This record gives sequence, structure tokens and C-alpha cells, in this order.
Amino acid sequence: MATEALREPADPRTRRARVSELEVVRHHFDRAWDSLGLSDDARQIFWEPYREVSVQIPIKLSDGAMHVFHGFRIQHNGARGPYKGGMRFHPEVDIDEVRALASMMTWKTAVASIPFGGAKGGVNVDTRGLKEEELQRIARSLLDKIDKVIGPNRDIPAPDIGTNAQTMAWMMDEYGKLNGHTPACVTGKPISLEGSYGREAATGRGCVIMFEEAAARLGIDPAETTFTVQGFGNVGSWIARAMRELGAKLVAVADQDGAIRSEAGIDADRLVEHVHVGGGKLTEYPEAEEIETGDFYEVPCDVFFPAALGGMVHEDNAPILACRVMVEGANNPTTFAADEILADRGIYVVPDLIANAGGVVVSYFEWVQNLQHFRWEEPAVNDMLRSVMKRTFGEVLHRAERDGRSLREAAFEIGVDRVVEASRTRGYFS
Ligand code: NAD
Repeated sequence: MATEALREPADPRTRRARVSELEVVRHHFDRAWDSLGLSDDARQIFWEPYREVSVQIPIKLSDGAMHVFHGFRIQHNGARGPYKGGMRFHPEVDIDEVRALASMMTWKTAVASIPFGGAKGGVNVDTRGLKEEELQRIARSLLDKIDKVIGPNRDIPAPDIGTNAQTMAWMMDEYGKLNGHTPACVTGKPISLEGSYGREAATGRGCVIMFEEAAARLGIDPAETTFTVQGFGNVGSWIARAMRELGAKLVAVADQDGAIRSEAGIDADRLVEHVHVGGGKLTEYPEAEEIETGDFYEVPCDVFFPAALGGMVHEDNAPILACRVMVEGANNPTTFAADEILADRGIYVVPDLIANAGGVVVSYFEWVQNLQHFRWEEPAVNDMLRSVMKRTFGEVLHRAERDGRSLREAAFEIGVDRVVEASRTRGYFS
């Protein structure tokens, strides 16, 4: 009931999609599978997760009551390397959402050509209002209960919605108590605990690199662009800062509290100062005007970056999106119905599968550094990130143009093809 209420606000523009993320990913997977002409009897092997762990996390919170949360770790496919994927703490986390996100990680690591499989985890907890000590107990308890399937050569968690470098530090510490100091067991750690330079900004920076690639192709000058961002957490706020470095103008931002707009432009650094450092509400930022959340979708801009939850772009707002390009920072932000609307309207979509891969790419660099107990400087990390993102965009664009596909279709086809090839070569099936 609570979930339905959250998904059905009065303004249909602001609701989340009625199709589940699992249905969205299944749709794209099936289409890729069929286009590749793969055999029907093997489809299930690559669609279903290899392993699903579901645990109970009972915690007595400061309200004096015992709360029983549910934690998940889903390992979708490990043919190309250890499982890899984020840990999400959000009240709407459920097993199907985690399954969808785990499968996305399998195809994402394959398209970016990094040697990982795909996984995802999460806890159905609302972190707002929780004390740090309570979050720490939840993170440690989850790690304790899934410890047997985690490890630097098995499965390597990272931050996602509601989790951050601090959460990874607690998880690393808990894993270390059970198995000995092993920094490579999680990525996205703080710099003081063998985290990588550039990891925190990597997903946002990667999205902006993808925008630069799309802009070059479309003849757009990034310095002359206006943009909007939905979600001002890790991904959204780093998109805003990296776009500012290019000289682009931020004209509207939305988060879970509402939306703001300024035609003169919103200073990303000052907004970070207000929200992340000062703990202020986005809607109370003094240098922009508060607007209705639904109106956010109609703010004219060159590029829109969804960087919040899945299912935010659907048939009730895709027709009114006033952008030329959409770069998906979030996972699964767009339903397949919305995809068709955007294509008909000529909006150029850089899909999540490649657009937000920067996080897992630098997570890969962090894991490599940890295994060697070595550290690269930030410029080196950013250069390597750029080169992987550019190569990935180029490969997907080439296939899309060659075969008459959208970037999303081409990305799924490349991802599925590489995973199937790795499985065949291992001898899992012929
Ligand atoms: P975060 O928790 O740091 O930030 C989430 C943001 O979304 C917050 O600003 C929150 O207010 C906003 N939000 C929540 N509900 C909203 C709503 N209904 N409307 C508008 N805004 C809303 O999370 P994050 O790490 O920035 O992740 C954001 C998205 O990017 C997710 O889809 C995640 O899976 C994806 N992603 C994250 C990473 C990463 O490295 N963190 C990597 C790849 C993809």
C-alpha cells in the first residue's frame, strides 16, 4: 500500500512508471536476444539470476521499536568476472527491482568491456531521519548476513541510492573482521581507506563525457547548452559540476523534496554547499525559484539528465519533455512506451547502459589499485575513464548506425552478445 501511494501522486507527470523496472529490462533483453538470433532454450539461463540471497535485518531504532528490514544481494551473471553492483538503501527496494538492476549490471560491464559480472543489492529502509549509528548497524548487519557470497574474487558491492563512501567503509570493516583486511571487497570507499581518486565523481563525469560525445555528433557546442538535472545526490550533483566545467548553464533541478528553476542559471557549487554541506532543502535554495515538480519536465533545455529513481520518464511526461538530448544517469529511468515517444519526437537518448557506466568503470580501477595496493593520481583516473567511455560510445554508435538500431538496442545487443560468448567459451553451453 505504502509503495502504491508513493507511486501515485496527484500529478500524473510526477508519478513513477506503472510498468516495473523488471518488465522494462526484460523487454530490452528479449529484443536483443531475438535480434541476435540466439536459441530460445538458452534464454532463461541469461535472464534469470544465478543466485539470490534474501535476509532479514531486525534493528531496534531510536523510536524504541523493533523494525524488520529486508536485505537482498542478487548475483545475476558471473561469466565475465566477479559479480559487481551497487547497494541501494531505499524504502521502495524490493526483490524484483534488485533483479532488474542486477541484470543491468551484467550487460553494462560487458558493454564497457570491464571484467566483471552483474549484481545488485539493497535494503528496504528509508534512510531519512535515521541516525548515523543506525545506518551503520544496518550496513554491518547486511554484510554479516551475505558475507559468504561477497569477496574480491566473488562479488564486490559499491554505493547506490541511499548509500555512500561511509557505507562502503563500514562494509569493508565488517568484511575485514570476518576475513582479514581486504579493501578490494567493496569499491566507492573513502580516499582514507584505499578508495580511488575520482570514484565519487565518476558516474556524473561519465554521463557528461557521454553528453560531449553525443554533442559532437549532433553539432552542439557544450559551452552554449542549458541543462536540467533530476536528482541531486551523488550522480546528479557531479553531473551539474562537470557540466559547469564545460561552461553549460543549469536551469532547473528536482529532487525528492521538489524542484527549482532559474533562467539566469543555478551555481552547481553553491547548490552543493546548500544541500550537501549545509543540509538545506533543495526547494529552500535562495538563488532560484521553487516550481511545481511536474513543471520541471517542461523547462526548456538542451539536455535533460534523469539522475534519481527508475521509472521517472513515462507516457505522462515524455510528451512534454522540452529537451533535445536526454542522458540517463539513473538506471531504468525510461519506460519502453516513453522510449518510443522520445524517438518519435526526435529526442536523442544516451541510454543508462552506457551513460552511467562511469561509476563501475572507476570501481574497476579502484579494485585493480586495491589488488596491487597502489594508487593512481586523479588526472590519470579521469583520463582512463574518458578513454573507456569514448570507446564504449563509439562501439555502440557504430553498431546502431550499421544495423539501424537505437543506441539502447545496440548497447543491449553488444552486452548480451559478449556475455553469451564468454559463457560459450567457458563451456557452459554450446
Ligand atoms: P543518491 O541517493 O546519492 O541521490 C538520489 C537523488 O534522487 C537524491 O537527490 C534524491 O532526493 C533524488 N530523488 C529521490 N526520489 C526522487 C523523486 N521522486 N523525484 C526526484 N528526485 C528524487 O543516489 P545516486 O547514487 O546519485 O543514484 C542516482 C541514480 O543513479 C540511481 O538510479 C542509481 O542507480 C544510478 N547510478 C548511480 C551510480 C553511483 O555510482 N552512485 C552509478 C550508476 C548509476
